[in-house]
Amino acid sequence: MPIYEYQAAGHDCCDYCVTAYDVLQKLSDDPPKFCPKCHNPVRRKISPPNVVSPTPSLSQSNIEKHGLTQFKKVEKGVYEKTAGKGPDYITGDKTP
Ligand SMILES: [Zn+2]
Repeated sequence: MPIYEYQAAGHDCCDYCVTAYDVLQKLSDDPPKFCPKCHNPVRRKISPPNVVSPTPSLSQSNIEKHGLTQFKKVEKGVYEKTAGKGPDYITGDKTP
């Protein structure tokens, strides 16, 4: 069940909605439009998404567990497999 943060939309607000408050919301529920205390309009606070950088957490065992293959660049157009089940080498050389 998602939890949304709501905050006073205008300048009319009470101590409750002047700071953002959490609303546990069912998907079927309509979003609350008014503060439950002072009944002034509120709006959903858009908080920045939790951006998790995938790079440092990808250990070799994780890569293999997820069926992925990791390559490292050996030279221009040539990649050597470092983890996973893919081919040992990938070459980008398209010339015959
Ligand atoms: Zn209020």
